[in-house]
Amino acid sequence: MEQLKSKIRDIPDFPKPGILFKDITPLVRDPAALRLAVHQLFHPFLGQDITAVGGMEARGFIFGALVAWELGVGFVPLRKPGKLPYNVQSISYHLEYGSASLEAHTDSLGPGDKVLLVDDLLATGGTAKASCDLVESLGATIAACAFVIELDFLKGREKLSNYTIHSLLHY
Ligand code: 5GP
Repeated sequence: MEQLKSKIRDIPDFPKPGILFKDITPLVRDPAALRLAVHQLFHPFLGQDITAVGGMEARGFIFGALVAWELGVGFVPLRKPGKLPYNVQSISYHLEYGSASLEAHTDSLGPGDKVLLVDDLLATGGTAKASCDLVESLGATIAACAFVIELDFLKGREKLSNYTIHSLLHY
């Protein structure tokens, strides 16, 4: 895991002053690190009858699509508002300042689907909780949520206490 941590770059004051942003682009640029991260993300879920992987825009698309490929299932993009072309189901959630929304196509998931959610990073848990609610509002169940990075001090895990959480790196 130190191999992966060495590929995470800290960017001070991004996207606003006081935030120390964890930049995963060096990790995805490195073939060995990318392969290791994807392997660690999907491996615990082999044989768990996952039917789809959901990924949150935008970095969740990178890891989520690769995890879906490895599990031999399809990928469902959970997108920011106005990006998906067909009928959508929306969910709004609170941020520290203001609110945000995520959308999924209404026919992307349904009863019988067992979904692994994948994102690059768990911070306060708002995005992941909204994603779980969105998937469940389509009738599907959440198998687990998998993250490359978990910022333990923000306690996002507490918002997701009903779900299995799998994180590769902790800060
Ligand atoms: P949360 O909703 O848990 O507070 O924030 C998590 C979401 O914001 C994820 O979709 C993640 O991509 C993004 N995010 C928040 N902080 C960071 C960060 O420091 N680095 C990266 N790569 N993404 C972040």
